[in-house]
Amino acid sequence: PERTSRPMPDLSLAELLDLDRRHVWHPYGPMPGRQEPLVVEAASGVRLRMADGTGELIDGMSSWWSAIHGYNHPVLNEAAREQLSRMSHVMFGGLTHEPAVRLAKRLVDISPEGLEHVFLADSGSVSVEVAVKMCLQYWRSLGRPGKQRLLTWRGGYHGDTWQPMSVCDPQGGMHELWQGVLQRQVFADAPPVAYEESYADQLRELIERHADELAAVIVEPVVQGAGGMRFHSPAYLRVLREACDAHDVLLVFDEIATGFGRTGALFAADHVGVTPDVMCLGKALTGGYLTLAATLCTARVADGISRGEVPVLAHGPTFMGNPLAAAVANASIDLLLGQDWQTEVKRIETGLREGLAAAADLPGVRDVRVLGAIGVVQLDRPLDEAAMAAATRAAVREGVWLRPFRDLVYTMPPYVTGDADVARIAGAVCAAAREG
Ligand code: PMP
Repeated sequence: PERTSRPMPDLSLAELLDLDRRHVWHPYGPMPGRQEPLVVEAASGVRLRMADGTGELIDGMSSWWSAIHGYNHPVLNEAAREQLSRMSHVMFGGLTHEPAVRLAKRLVDISPEGLEHVFLADSGSVSVEVAVKMCLQYWRSLGRPGKQRLLTWRGGYHGDTWQPMSVCDPQGGMHELWQGVLQRQVFADAPPVAYEESYADQLRELIERHADELAAVIVEPVVQGAGGMRFHSPAYLRVLREACDAHDVLLVFDEIATGFGRTGALFAADHVGVTPDVMCLGKALTGGYLTLAATLCTARVADGISRGEVPVLAHGPTFMGNPLAAAVANASIDLLLGQDWQTEVKRIETGLREGLAAAADLPGVRDVRVLGAIGVVQLDRPLDEAAMAAATRAAVREGVWLRPFRDLVYTMPPYVTGDADVARIAGAVCAAAREG
């Protein structure tokens, strides 16, 4: 070991990339054939400043769909600074604090009617773990421990930790490696785009057939994100609600990607006014500033848990309820609701529709779809790693940061992206699709 107190010398770009290659594990890395990562130096508004001197890239990804207000926002910076001067973290067991209490109350107020209790976790995946625990524990408390499986539809994505992986798409998805090791869940087909009674019947039939062993149905409402960027009719949410009620199954909405306005409604559940029993939030909760997620549940679920043999929600890792993240989340929600965010999301939707229309005529393009601040170009076949790298480079040449995956080139820009930048992002999506 080299344990000197000598500070590390400044790193050249080449040295930094070399150390990155040698020591740093990136999400889903290392990817053979992928280009090496680009080094980002700073970020402000919707632009990332690159360290290689090539200038700035417009961020078409919102840092995996979270940075809805853009980067380096004065209001969020100030909220973080103010909280930092009080305390950045304190244990949440036996202690509480204003940022977390305020946030819980705010989330209860703005989320679908009936959600009343909030668990503040530190990532989306963990908030899904907590949601699953809540559901399983609820049925245990009620003396029905056999209800411990989950039902979902194909094409979903709920995170990379253990239980969430079991409800991700089992075929061709990111977690195929673990099939046979993960808990076997019940899968319906992926939901069709438009409402089809025959598909609603499939959902009803599966829920009824498996009711005795199902703790919950868990779905991403309206938009399936990382599992394929698919949209579906919100009417299916009503079907799920009715079938779950009829057969004693809890309903979980994973709104980690859709929450906070992304689909044009504050929560995707609002498109049809359905309240789930449990709801997960993350990503845009702090405007993408800090790692925080929330699991909300109804009084029914919370009361059920507290009537059990172990009457507590047995979950409490170190960084739950982080006050710094909670303070920024409060500021981010104020910022969002203090403006006409619907108009901004609509404006981006219109810009993406116009800009992506050209992609429909490109060879190899199967589908172009836009909903809220989400624009997707789906190709005929999946890109291999080299083609993904080429598509990424094509976007970067257009001055835009995108991260194509599988057969998809897509954007989820910050809501503060101006019209000219939306047009450039759309142009870059087309350029990347052409390259792929
Ligand atoms: N659920 C959904 C719908 C998501 O989109 C994601 C992240 N892409 C997750 C869960 C997992 O969240 P995290 O990456 O913060 O763990």
